[in-house]
Amino acid sequence: MTARRRQAGTVYLVGAGPGDPALITVRGRDLLARADLVICDALAPGALRREARPGATIVEVGPAHGRRALEQASINRLMIARARRGLNVVRLKGGDPCIFGRGGEEAEALATAGVRFEIVPGVTSALGAAATAGIPLTHRRHASSVVLATAHVGRGKDASAVDWKPLAGAGSAVVYMAVGRLEEITAGLAAAGRSPTTPAALVRWATRPDQEVLVGTLGSLAGLARRAGLGPPAILIVGDVVRLRPRLDWFGRRPLAGRTVVVTRAREQSASLSALLEEDGARVLEAPAIEIVPPTSWAPLDRALAALDRFNILIFTSVNGVARFFGRLEDRRIDIRDLAGL
Ligand code: SAH
Repeated sequence: MTARRRQAGTVYLVGAGPGDPALITVRGRDLLARADLVICDALAPGALRREARPGATIVEVGPAHGRRALEQASINRLMIARARRGLNVVRLKGGDPCIFGRGGEEAEALATAGVRFEIVPGVTSALGAAATAGIPLTHRRHASSVVLATAHVGRGKDASAVDWKPLAGAGSAVVYMAVGRLEEITAGLAAAGRSPTTPAALVRWATRPDQEVLVGTLGSLAGLARRAGLGPPAILIVGDVVRLRPRLDWFGRRPLAGRTVVVTRAREQSASLSALLEEDGARVLEAPAIEIVPPTSWAPLDRALAALDRFNILIFTSVNGVARFFGRLEDRRIDIRDLAGL
């Protein structure tokens, strides 16, 4: 009999969704919680790293993290080597792994290496942006087709290599990686027959609380974006559907949309307040300025506890007071029923 070989691991190419960490799939989150190694792209929402198993190794490979992005070949090598060693690897990518995310190329490398892999789809940023900008990409009255495209057509090629015709002819056209080449893209679409008066929107950081939306026309948007100094990542939506935004902008109408709130509560207590604020659209920065510590002396409380019959009313001014008070009762083995007489 041959020696038992260590069972090889699996590589999961997981779509992290467009920006809001809650938009990952249940399957994606389950895999994150079990992975031994997580290889994250810069566009994958940072908060999702917290979903990883505490002992998991997390490797950042996006250019937004200072150092030069790990070369694609090194990423492939890392995934393959670790899976062969028996580790389960999650390759976490922004949006959907196979929509302009090189998921296809990574899957090919894994297939060539004979490594088991799985592709877990994600909400691509076109769909995220459409939802939170209030721009339905298809609509019975306005658009019966949608094209997803990019002007980045490969190393060494520029936007002139793009065939704009299918985009110009689509009901709605969505262009990824649009910011740096907005002039060329809008000019290309117009040259291919799309009217310069077609409504167009640029959505930056879609689905996140700091989402920005710029609306204009095919003719005006590039100038507007330049003047606004809008940088990447942003996605361009062109088509009559953009006209629906003023009525359907539910995201921008949430009561705290566009506001940033600093939560200074103690770290253990900030999460519930932050969640409420985020639910109403706020961007929350947690900066705990309060630390809850035991009192330097319990003597005053102990004196009061020893003479409970002298009090008529007991007032607590915070949940912390309640927790500490009852904690002390327990430590001193005082029966909670002694309070009944108050
Ligand atoms: N796989 C990703 C796309 C990666 S290409 C997906 O499915 O979404 C990177 C481009 O995606 C960016 O240049 C930008 O055009 C777009 N993008 C990604 N996240 C975005 C976001 N939160 N808001 C707007 N555009 C985004």
